[in-house]
Amino acid sequence: MENQGTDFIRQRIASDIESGKCEGGVVTRFPPEPNGYLHIGHAKSICLNFGVTEDFGGTTYLRFDDTNPLKESNDYVEAIKQDVAWLGFEWAHLTFASDYFDQLYDQALSLIKQGKAYVCSLDAEAIRESRGTLTQPGTDSPFRERTIDENLDLFQRMRAGGFADGEHVLRLKIDMASPNINLRDPVIYRIRHATHQHVGDAWCIYPMYDFTHCICDALEEITHSLCTLEFEDHRPLYDWVLDHADLNFHPPQIEFSRLGLEYTVMSKRLLHRLVDEDIVAGWDDPRMPTIAGLRRRGVPALAIRDFCARIGITKQDNVVEMNLLDFCIRKCLESTAPRGMAVLEPLKVVLTNYPNVQSDSVQEAETPALTGPWHSQNEALGHRDLPFGPELWIERSDFSENPPSKWKRLLPGGMVRLRYAYIIVCDEVVYDDQGGVLQLNCRYFEDSRSGNDTSGLKPKGVIHWVDAAAGIPVTVRDYGRLFTVPAPGADTFLQDINPDSLTEYAAVAEPAIMTHAAKNFQFERQGYFYKDPEQGGVFNKTVSLREGF
Ligand code: ATP
Ligand code: MG
Repeated sequence: MENQGTDFIRQRIASDIESGKCEGGVVTRFPPEPNGYLHIGHAKSICLNFGVTEDFGGTTYLRFDDTNPLKESNDYVEAIKQDVAWLGFEWAHLTFASDYFDQLYDQALSLIKQGKAYVCSLDAEAIRESRGTLTQPGTDSPFRERTIDENLDLFQRMRAGGFADGEHVLRLKIDMASPNINLRDPVIYRIRHATHQHVGDAWCIYPMYDFTHCICDALEEITHSLCTLEFEDHRPLYDWVLDHADLNFHPPQIEFSRLGLEYTVMSKRLLHRLVDEDIVAGWDDPRMPTIAGLRRRGVPALAIRDFCARIGITKQDNVVEMNLLDFCIRKCLESTAPRGMAVLEPLKVVLTNYPNVQSDSVQEAETPALTGPWHSQNEALGHRDLPFGPELWIERSDFSENPPSKWKRLLPGGMVRLRYAYIIVCDEVVYDDQGGVLQLNCRYFEDSRSGNDTSGLKPKGVIHWVDAAAGIPVTVRDYGRLFTVPAPGADTFLQDINPDSLTEYAAVAEPAIMTHAAKNFQFERQGYFYKDPEQGGVFNKTVSLREGF
């Protein structure tokens, strides 16, 4: 399923192997920041980083990029581990950037000693202003020429807790006139008196991403540091730090395009707002593009991996259609999910000629139970009994008093087959006080039993149904798109929320679905549904049977 063809990164790795550049094997890392849940965009990066070492041999680290204690938590660490494992990948090593805080600090000291870093006492605002623009060079900090001794003293006192947040930062001394703004004396350490989720109160200064990432990559001897295109402009800084650090390993950074998906947002910042502002029920709300949300919707891990393989790895930014993900989900569930019957909007059918309508069930006991295969093309899924009695539920939309032409389902005086059961004919429509259809009085043809039909009747349609006495009331949640537009804007996304993204049905399911060990089902003619793992009696719609919304 995966490894469909090759991509520019795999080609590069293959040629590096051939030229003897990674003799110890390929080493990659997936480096999430534990500041939220993973989304399907991360899955692309996970499938790439773990995928190449599966393909070429080697090891992949799961490394938490945890340099900002204010936004990170152990709950996110645990959720991310769960998601990566659920996708079916095994990390060779689990590490944290914070495991390397000592080495990072030593590297900073070494840069100060080389005259390549200095303590700057401008505040954040002043630093931003002096950075210049794309067309204008920045201006030097008045603290740029501090002596090495002064810098060492100040930095050590920063580390020892002698200053308040924001009083000083450590900056690299590169070039305030560089055309690449990332090279204009970037800040590499800031003071934060905050408890860190992994190292507690051991530190009150924290290294910045651009400084941390490349050094961690070098320490772990990552042979190919794969990241998304927004880091392309940071590559000169990545290389600068490693060129000046006391390390003898220098991984190449290679960028690929981010995954974008229609009708959703994919940045943790925006996903946080959906959760925090209660627009969704949580990170694992089935409408979320998070791995946890997709899992709760019933999307199999293999469908996500297949999707990532199909979109491939390129340098072109692209927004992928939701239909492709849906296609992969269907493909995965098509032959494996048992097919049962559930009625989402029940309409009562009373069989007026059912033999034991008034009496006890003497005659019923003589009729063998109806059965149906769990999957008409997959015998291995077995059969189940289908309770049948005088009162049944059918789908309200399977009956029409004024049907359009070519209607194949039930109408007054019309006939239809009940799937795996009998043919019925509708004799009478019973209305409620408001004139709505309350119930259908029908007759069934005893000699029309599926598999043993001697009736000679030829109804055009087959509909699903559930026995009213045996059926189990369930809640079905049909999730639509979370947004009304294909590309919600980062600033306007809250206005683009689809107010109708959740439809709840008081449905009825055949009892065998409830006791079956499977979690993913096809409800015949309705789509694929998933037993909610948290709430009993709730089914989440995973995907419809066919393309189209
Ligand atoms: P977000 O903006 O959603 O917070 P991020 O890039 O800040 O994403 P990280 O936790 O830092 O999130 O990302 C971990 C890895 O996943 C990085 O290597 C990043 O490049 C990659 N990644 C994140 N989003 C995507 C995406 N949409 N497509 C492909 N890779 C992604
Ligand atoms: Mg990030």
